Amino acid sequence: MSTNNYILNLLNIEDKNIFINTKNIQNKVINGKNYKIIEAFLSYSPDFCPHCGVINESKNNIIKWGFRKNCIVKIPKQGNCLTRLILHKQRFFCKNCRNTFIAETSLVDRNKNISKNTELQINLELMEKQSEKDIAKRLDVSVSKIDRKLNEISSHTVLRHSSLPESMNWDEFKATKDTKGKMAFIIVDNNSGNIFDIQDSRKSRDLEKYFRRYSKTQRDSVKLISTDFYTGYIFLAKKLFRNANIVIDRFHIITQAYVALNSTRISLCKKSNKNYNKLKDLWKLILKNENDLSNIKHYNKHFNQNISQKEMVDFMINTNKELKATYECYQGIINSIHNKNFQKFKNIIFHPNQNISSKMKQALRLYRENIKYIENSFKYDINNGIIEGTNNLIKTLKRIAFGYKKFDHFISRIFLIKGIIKG
Ligand SMILES: [Zn+2]
Repeated sequence: MSTNNYILNLLNIEDKNIFINTKNIQNKVINGKNYKIIEAFLSYSPDFCPHCGVINESKNNIIKWGFRKNCIVKIPKQGNCLTRLILHKQRFFCKNCRNTFIAETSLVDRNKNISKNTELQINLELMEKQSEKDIAKRLDVSVSKIDRKLNEISSHTVLRHSSLPESMNWDEFKATKDTKGKMAFIIVDNNSGNIFDIQDSRKSRDLEKYFRRYSKTQRDSVKLISTDFYTGYIFLAKKLFRNANIVIDRFHIITQAYVALNSTRISLCKKSNKNYNKLKDLWKLILKNENDLSNIKHYNKHFNQNISQKEMVDFMINTNKELKATYECYQGIINSIHNKNFQKFKNIIFHPNQNISSKMKQALRLYRENIKYIENSFKYDINNGIIEGTNNLIKTLKRIAFGYKKFDHFISRIFLIKGIIKG
């Protein structure tokens, strides 16, 4: 292999018409960044003239006519160095039509200064969970370059599925600023755990239009839809999916009781309460499943003695009648779900202790109104890991969505990261 080909190989440059000036490879620091600057020439004997089409038979019809100098091309980093190719492109003169033209290369598109390799690298980087700012910084391109790349990708991001998942989960998350509704709608396939689609609105009207793109037969083959308590979803599921069992998933059932107990605790966290610090700092113990509380005694500063988790919780709930009743109600709910004991669950929500807080009363009312769909969550087993995975995914989406102004871009990145589309 010639030295030139060897260097081209190292730089991942396929165009063998590029000649590296090995005497002019410099390391420079520009604005505090390390650069490797490589001088190269692009030249070859053209086959024909792009203006008049004359064939360059004897190699005399078209002659070399100097260089267009100093085209700076961004190529991928070498080692830890940002790398620039100063490319001098051969100019040609056609004797037949008396026009000149410039040599072309597969390294970079005409009038561009970002090599195709770098473009490809942007796509690959967009598939990783990282901010666009970081990508721009690492590849030494502008943020607007990344933005344009996402424009390009999102312009052909249309997910088309030939059928709907047999079992799907519907959920929402707060979306970017430019979306129609405030909330975006996400569909996850309950069997694979993969995102099926994301829509920029959770409004019934928009969702109905979306689902009606699938034929009635396709919709009739959907067997299960899991969702939260949002009445709009339940109404829509009943209207469009007549064979589907509607399930309110365990995660959202538990969340209601969890939030109710926690706000009851918070309402007691007043400075005037002598147990203020205990209730404030030991909140995790109160929300924990009572069966998971430890009996081992350790020193605790709030109690200034050796005390077990169980004893601490007992102490705290016995400081207030309402807290105690609400706590017991919560524990009953999470354990009846955990043990798949629907009778016990029903008993708790239809015959509650009258001392429970108004927040918990509200939660129980919601349970009673949706008892049919809650019962289904005891009947139909949806993989717990997938439910959890979905909810973690949505949490991550919320975090990422925050930085996005354009919904299309956000969705494209999610799909890129999840490997649903290719850049
Ligand atoms: Zn010509």
